[in-house]
Amino acid sequence: LWNLVLDRLGQQLNRPTFETWIKTATAEDLKDNCLTICTPNPFVLNHLQKHYIKILSDTVEGILGYPVEIHLTVAQGDNLAFGADQETFEAFTNYQQQSYSHHLKLTQLNPKYTFYRFVVGPTNRMAHAASLAVAESPGRDFNPLFLCGGVGLGKTHLMQAIGHYHLEINPDAKVFYVSTEQFTNDLIAAIRNDSMQSFREHYRTADILLVDDIQFIEGKEYTQEEFFHTFNTLHEAGKQVILASDRPPTQIPRLQARLSSRFSMGLIADVQVPDLETRMAILQKKAEYENVRLPRTVIEYIASRYTSNIRELEGALIRAVTYISIAGLSMTVENIATVLNPAVERVAAAPEVILQVISEVFQISIEDLKSNSRRREISYARQIGMYLMRQHTDLSLPRIGEEFGGKDHTTVMYSCEKIAKQQEQDRELNQTLAQLSDRINFVSKNQY
Ligand code: ADP
Ligand code: MG
Repeated sequence: LWNLVLDRLGQQLNRPTFETWIKTATAEDLKDNCLTICTPNPFVLNHLQKHYIKILSDTVEGILGYPVEIHLTVAQGDNLAFGADQETFEAFTNYQQQSYSHHLKLTQLNPKYTFYRFVVGPTNRMAHAASLAVAESPGRDFNPLFLCGGVGLGKTHLMQAIGHYHLEINPDAKVFYVSTEQFTNDLIAAIRNDSMQSFREHYRTADILLVDDIQFIEGKEYTQEEFFHTFNTLHEAGKQVILASDRPPTQIPRLQARLSSRFSMGLIADVQVPDLETRMAILQKKAEYENVRLPRTVIEYIASRYTSNIRELEGALIRAVTYISIAGLSMTVENIATVLNPAVERVAAAPEVILQVISEVFQISIEDLKSNSRRREISYARQIGMYLMRQHTDLSLPRIGEEFGGKDHTTVMYSCEKIAKQQEQDRELNQTLAQLSDRINFVSKNQY
């Protein structure tokens, strides 16, 4: 069956896509109308789940003549289907063991955020060493451990790695990871439901309590009060508290002095922007987990373009790899540059293409885009469409207005300005726009 599936998909999909995502998987067994497909690693699993589950199940149904459910799993160590080197392989099996044996407990921890996957460099060495020490003997050396540093530099990753690691050596430990927001919400819910006792029992019986983005406790008097007592209870009992924040305790405004002083009584370790070499190593590792081979030049190119935020660095890698594989291009710096700088080589697109892409991606009909509907989803998609039409065509504002069913040019101008402004602050929107641009470029290129 699987060979047939591979045959069919090999004909339907372009080579890189097929080789990267499909061919690395194997079918495990078919039982009760459920086909289990085994993927080499969690990244491939994720990608298949997101993009290829439909085509997989359609193809299988086409062959068998009846519908089957597709179930994806990750390969166990010994039948690992890809040619990873020993180190990756070991890290991977370790990671697997961790994530499986503590499956239930880890529900709040992201399985990717382990020490195995954390690249150590000069700007995070201290924080990493302290985290490792804490993971090995919580409650002993640095209590609390206060991790601070800018957005996207690995604080959440490190603190969760402590949780994973400790659970590995002590599977019965109570490790709680919680965002400050979640803590506040739990507290509010407890007050409302008259269940303060169980709230306190929950938080005060942790062996390791990880509280993320503690800077958000700023100004929340009642949360601060409650957290002060939680903290003291744990600390006196020799339990470990780990906090993460985008700035040191003294710089969190409207934080009670007694909390600030408690936050500072262990170790404050900071993570800073990594240097080029570390950024390259991070990309390298990420690519290995993605099961893609990248030329060094490409890694260097991406690493030198994204300097201040690792999340963006990783986002750029994924975007580049996905696009290259969809478009069937080769992995060269030039091709990558085209993907990552849509502004530089923005393909001129026909207005219909833009409408079509917007319609597809937002699942809103072209008719609705051209209508006068003010429904939020529709008008938002319309504004993005206007913005992209401004970017991808030479059309004047009134002409763009016409493309959208005869809107006034001031409406078009307002939309473009609004989106332009928003994207400066909203990273997600920024990424969405970049992806839409990629898609528009891609469709345009393949149409003519
Ligand atoms: P923060 O909490 O500081 O905003 P995160 O911990 O969420 O940042 O990290 C952002 C992304 O970058 C995550 O996907 C994380 O896995 C990755 N990352 C950060 N630092 C490293 C590192 N040193 N090695 C590997 N990946 C990293
Ligand atoms: Mg974080």
